[in-house]
Amino acid sequence: MAYVVTESCIRCKYTDCVDVCPVDCFREGPNFLVIDPEECIDCTLCVAECPVEAIYAEDDVPSDQQGFIALNAELSKQWKPIVERKDALPDAEDWAKVKGKLGELLR
Ligand code: SF4
Ligand code: SF4
Repeated sequence: MAYVVTESCIRCKYTDCVDVCPVDCFREGPNFLVIDPEECIDCTLCVAECPVEAIYAEDDVPSDQQGFIALNAELSKQWKPIVERKDALPDAEDWAKVKGKLGELLR
Protein backbone atom coordinates (compact mmCIF):
# COMPACT_ATOMS: atom_id res chain seq x y z
CA MET A 1 0.00 0.00 0.00
CA ALA A 2 1.01 3.64 -0.34
CA TYR A 3 -0.39 7.06 0.39
CA VAL A 4 -2.03 9.04 -2.40
CA VAL A 5 -2.41 12.76 -3.09
CA THR A 6 -5.92 13.58 -4.33
CA GLU A 7 -7.78 16.44 -5.96
CA SER A 8 -7.73 19.03 -3.15
CA CYS A 9 -4.01 19.61 -3.75
CA ILE A 10 -4.53 20.81 -7.34
CA ARG A 11 -3.72 24.51 -7.63
CA CYS A 12 -2.93 24.66 -3.87
CA LYS A 13 0.31 22.82 -3.39
CA TYR A 14 0.84 24.03 0.15
CA THR A 15 3.79 21.59 0.45
CA ASP A 16 3.51 21.23 4.25
CA CYS A 17 3.54 17.49 3.60
CA VAL A 18 6.99 17.49 2.06
CA ASP A 19 8.95 18.45 5.16
CA VAL A 20 7.76 15.50 7.22
CA CYS A 21 8.29 12.69 4.72
CA PRO A 22 11.19 10.56 5.99
CA VAL A 23 11.88 9.03 2.59
CA ASP A 24 11.43 12.09 0.34
CA CYS A 25 8.83 10.44 -1.87
CA PHE A 26 6.91 13.56 -2.95
CA ARG A 27 7.23 14.61 -6.58
CA GLU A 28 6.39 18.09 -7.83
CA GLY A 29 4.47 19.16 -10.90
CA PRO A 30 3.45 22.68 -11.95
CA ASN A 31 0.35 22.83 -9.72
CA PHE A 32 0.07 19.46 -7.94
CA LEU A 33 2.17 17.06 -5.91
CA VAL A 34 2.13 13.28 -6.03
CA ILE A 35 3.58 10.50 -3.88
CA ASP A 36 5.79 7.86 -5.46
CA PRO A 37 4.03 4.63 -4.43
CA GLU A 38 7.25 2.66 -4.78
CA GLU A 39 9.03 4.85 -2.22
CA CYS A 40 6.28 5.57 0.33
CA ILE A 41 6.73 3.58 3.55
CA ASP A 42 3.20 4.21 4.87
CA CYS A 43 4.41 6.16 7.88
CA THR A 44 1.20 8.31 7.82
CA LEU A 45 3.07 11.48 8.89
CA CYS A 46 2.06 13.56 5.87
CA VAL A 47 -1.69 13.05 6.27
CA ALA A 48 -2.12 15.39 9.23
CA GLU A 49 0.12 18.03 7.68
CA CYS A 50 -2.01 18.72 4.62
CA PRO A 51 -4.27 21.75 5.28
CA VAL A 52 -6.75 20.62 2.62
CA GLU A 53 -6.85 16.93 3.59
CA ALA A 54 -5.66 15.81 0.17
CA ILE A 55 -3.71 12.75 1.33
CA TYR A 56 -5.27 9.32 1.88
CA ALA A 57 -4.06 5.79 2.40
CA GLU A 58 -4.60 3.91 -0.85
CA ASP A 59 -7.31 1.75 0.76
CA ASP A 60 -9.19 4.82 1.99
CA VAL A 61 -9.22 6.94 -1.18
CA PRO A 62 -12.85 8.13 -1.69
CA SER A 63 -14.72 6.47 -4.53
CA ASP A 64 -14.79 9.65 -6.64
CA GLN A 65 -11.01 10.02 -6.27
CA GLN A 66 -9.92 6.49 -7.25
CA GLY A 67 -8.29 7.73 -10.45
CA PHE A 68 -5.68 9.52 -8.38
CA ILE A 69 -4.10 6.20 -7.37
CA ALA A 70 -2.95 5.57 -10.94
CA LEU A 71 -2.25 9.27 -11.47
CA ASN A 72 0.21 9.37 -8.53
CA ALA A 73 1.96 6.28 -9.89
CA GLU A 74 2.15 7.71 -13.41
CA LEU A 75 3.21 11.28 -12.61
CA SER A 76 5.74 10.25 -9.95
CA LYS A 77 7.74 8.66 -12.77
CA GLN A 78 7.81 11.95 -14.68
CA TRP A 79 8.16 14.61 -12.01
CA LYS A 80 11.20 15.57 -9.91
CA PRO A 81 11.48 15.12 -6.14
CA ILE A 82 10.58 18.01 -3.85
CA VAL A 83 12.23 17.71 -0.44
CA GLU A 84 11.73 21.14 1.14
CA ARG A 85 8.63 23.14 1.84
CA LYS A 86 8.08 26.19 -0.33
CA ASP A 87 5.40 28.87 -0.57
CA ALA A 88 1.99 27.71 -1.75
CA LEU A 89 0.70 28.92 -5.10
CA PRO A 90 -0.42 32.57 -4.83
CA ASP A 91 -4.13 31.85 -5.28
CA ALA A 92 -4.08 28.59 -3.26
CA GLU A 93 -6.71 29.81 -0.82
CA ASP A 94 -9.19 30.54 -3.61
CA TRP A 95 -8.79 27.00 -4.97
CA ALA A 96 -8.62 25.09 -1.68
CA LYS A 97 -12.36 24.36 -1.45
CA VAL A 98 -13.11 24.02 -5.17
CA LYS A 99 -14.37 20.55 -6.18
CA GLY A 100 -14.05 18.90 -9.58
CA LYS A 101 -10.78 20.61 -10.51
CA LEU A 102 -9.02 17.68 -12.18
CA GLY A 103 -9.27 19.66 -15.43
CA GLU A 104 -6.96 22.26 -13.86
CA LEU A 105 -4.11 19.78 -13.46
CA LEU A 106 -1.01 20.76 -15.40
CA ARG A 107 1.49 18.05 -16.34
S1 SF4 B 1 0.18 19.61 1.95
FE1 SF4 B 1 -1.59 18.92 0.81
S2 SF4 B 1 -2.07 20.60 -0.61
FE2 SF4 B 1 -0.01 20.84 0.14
S3 SF4 B 1 1.29 19.89 -1.37
FE3 SF4 B 1 0.92 18.42 0.23
S4 SF4 B 1 -0.84 17.29 -0.52
FE4 SF4 B 1 -0.76 19.16 -1.68
S1 SF4 C 1 3.03 8.22 4.28
FE1 SF4 C 1 5.10 8.76 5.02
S2 SF4 C 1 6.43 7.90 3.49
FE2 SF4 C 1 4.44 8.02 2.56
S3 SF4 C 1 4.37 9.99 1.54
FE3 SF4 C 1 3.52 10.29 3.55
S4 SF4 C 1 5.25 10.97 4.78
FE4 SF4 C 1 6.11 10.04 2.93
